Amino acid sequence: MAVKLFNTLGRRLEEFHSIEPGKAKLYTCGPTVYNFAHIGNFRCYLFEDILRRALEYHGYEVTQVMNLTDVDDKTIRDSRANNMKLADFTAQYKKAFFEDLDTLRIERAAVYPEATMHIPEMIDMIQTLMDKGIAYQSDDKSVYFSIAKFPQYGQLAKIDMESQRIGDRVKNDEYSKDSVGDFALWKAWDDKDGDVKWDSPWGPGRPGWHIECCAMSRKYLGVTFDLHTGGIDNMFPHHEDEIAQSEAANGCKFVNYWLHCEHLTVNRQKMSKSLGNFYTMRDLLAKGYTGDEIRWALIGTHYRSKLNFDLGSLDQARTALKKFRTLFARLAALPAGNNGVEEAKELAAKAKQDFADAFADDLNIARGLAAVFMFNREINSGLAAGKFGADAAKILLDQYRDFDRILGSLDVDAAINVAPASDDTPAEVLELIEKRTAAKKAKNWSEADAIRDQLKALGYAVVDTPAGPKAEKIG
Ligand code: AMP
Ligand code: ZN
Repeated sequence: MAVKLFNTLGRRLEEFHSIEPGKAKLYTCGPTVYNFAHIGNFRCYLFEDILRRALEYHGYEVTQVMNLTDVDDKTIRDSRANNMKLADFTAQYKKAFFEDLDTLRIERAAVYPEATMHIPEMIDMIQTLMDKGIAYQSDDKSVYFSIAKFPQYGQLAKIDMESQRIGDRVKNDEYSKDSVGDFALWKAWDDKDGDVKWDSPWGPGRPGWHIECCAMSRKYLGVTFDLHTGGIDNMFPHHEDEIAQSEAANGCKFVNYWLHCEHLTVNRQKMSKSLGNFYTMRDLLAKGYTGDEIRWALIGTHYRSKLNFDLGSLDQARTALKKFRTLFARLAALPAGNNGVEEAKELAAKAKQDFADAFADDLNIARGLAAVFMFNREINSGLAAGKFGADAAKILLDQYRDFDRILGSLDVDAAINVAPASDDTPAEVLELIEKRTAAKKAKNWSEADAIRDQLKALGYAVVDTPAGPKAEKIG
């Protein structure tokens, strides 16, 4: 079935058709590595992860590119304030970013190109714009894009061209530009930049932020590709400027589908570094929350709606995920037998269809989760009626694994490998079971037996099931 997505270009839902059948090329604006990314940023990266996983679920082979902005005003300012070389300063935040991606089970992009490693490609593109007479060098030695030379400017943001531009990534010195809307392609070096500079046909300096994404997307995805995404605040001026530069330089359409994610807010205000109302992943992990809980809380609201964040939403995520895992453990512990197999197949097929349809409908997470919760309910009532045996359980658990191809938070296998007897099995007992499993793995039979005796003393028997060992209360 066709996947429908809301294209910011026309402000409407459209069927997604990729340029090359079965392949989707996706460019996602990445972090500026001057600090730890906050969970507002990660809401955006999670939306992109869900988009990518949903396309994969629907049979596309996705090539995703995400840039790392490792040179701009902020990275230069803060590396200098810390007396560090720019590359050493940004390296720490690149590393942290990848750690956070893994904690959130965000699938890795095919490539994470770094701006500082692609300066020649940017210079090349700026040169093309100069040759075409669309860019000009001003008295301040910086090179600007002349929006007067690109009449389609404003097509994405649908902005009034006379209005004042916003955003601090425009070279501040407005007077040196022909028009207030013109933006910097190459920023001439000044002493605030310290030793950060590259040679260019226009003198030493560094690239503007917008040209980065144009040069790197062209290199890795081609002149025209399928999808480009980012947070809603990136739509203007960043994405508008990307369109202008790429279409003017390449002489063809840049991107077919633009998708934008709404903000994560705190007390209804955008979460941002400048307001100080942010949490990093590290803040939340230090409070004892897990990556899965954070992921669950951040993906649960449709990407085009604002999501107001509070810690309570992580507690709710914890409860929700715990319920899933208890259910998985119950299923995994069902006795051998093929009872309920037909019913399990029917339930799984229906749930899968509803789930797939939901994500094909502009990533409708609420509908997708409703299909999963309905599946839970049917299984719970089946369990209460003693309908299922281990063969049925396998089918049902496989369906949860299938949901997790998009949701990425359920982690069926982690839940069934521990296989707690129930929610109220003491931690001490679970720990001993894990130790016994490890001892058995190491063929340390005497220790395994000793642990079994310890468990017995605590009132628990160990039952080895095909899904792993399970604790059962004695008597
Ligand atoms: P930056 O590092 O500031 O360029 O931001 C990286 C990405 O996170 C961009 O796509 C932003 O649009 C997005 N972003 C920033 N703040 C938020 C927020 N509060 N909610 C959702 N996305 C955000
Ligand atoms: Zn970008």
